[in-house]
Amino acid sequence: MQCERARDLLGAYRDKELSPDERRAVTQHVEGCKSCGDILADDERIGRSLQRLGRSQPPPALGARVRAGLQRIEEEVAASAPANAGARVAPSSGWNTMRVARNVAALAACCVLSVLATWWVMTSASQGIDRIARDVAAAHIRSLLQDSPVQVASSDQHTVRPWFAGRADFAPDVKDLAQDGFPLIGGRLDYIAERRVAAAVYKRRLHVINVFMWPSTATADSAPQIDTRNGYNLLSWSRNGVAYWAASDLNADELRQLQRLL
Ligand SMILES: [Zn+2]
Repeated sequence: MQCERARDLLGAYRDKELSPDERRAVTQHVEGCKSCGDILADDERIGRSLQRLGRSQPPPALGARVRAGLQRIEEEVAASAPANAGARVAPSSGWNTMRVARNVAALAACCVLSVLATWWVMTSASQGIDRIARDVAAAHIRSLLQDSPVQVASSDQHTVRPWFAGRADFAPDVKDLAQDGFPLIGGRLDYIAERRVAAAVYKRRLHVINVFMWPSTATADSAPQIDTRNGYNLLSWSRNGVAYWAASDLNADELRQLQRLL
């Protein structure tokens, strides 16, 4: 089995979705091929870290809005229903009650669906970005917890870029910006929003800056946007089909300065 084929199958291998024959072939390959073995080990380690991060809950406000909507319907029904306490039951009241009940059920379903739909539309757009921001902050923090934030330590862009070429889905343009006060210290692979991404690591005085890069799906370039997570500044932008996310405890102004240089 060739490396390329093995790497295509690594995800399914990890998830135990391969046929016994394919599984045997991949096992044999990763046992004999260090670089594929390393990728598998990386993915497994990252998968375990992500599992420990847990999953997100729907916002508490959603439950409150659903309950408020149902409460409003109940009140409307109570207001429109005939005052039946002690009243003589009219022959048509059984039919009326059924009709009201049917309307209430339909109305309640509409209300819940509309609240859910609004929530879904509003959050799914921001959720993608939110999810990425959370993963970027987590990846940055993970890198600081390691003995070294880089897997290839080099200030030479001609070393770092080819290092990515064999490991990430694309080889980003990596620049050494030592002359501008942002020395390149190396590169690393990381895992953001379920994809393997390249991280170029820079320093500014004592601050470590991770610049995560992956091919962008957006057709147009986007202006840099600053965000803060867990006390770290995150600056994101896209240019020439590449999405960039820079993470650091460096101040936002200097992070923007790096953005202009990249
Ligand atoms: Zn291989």
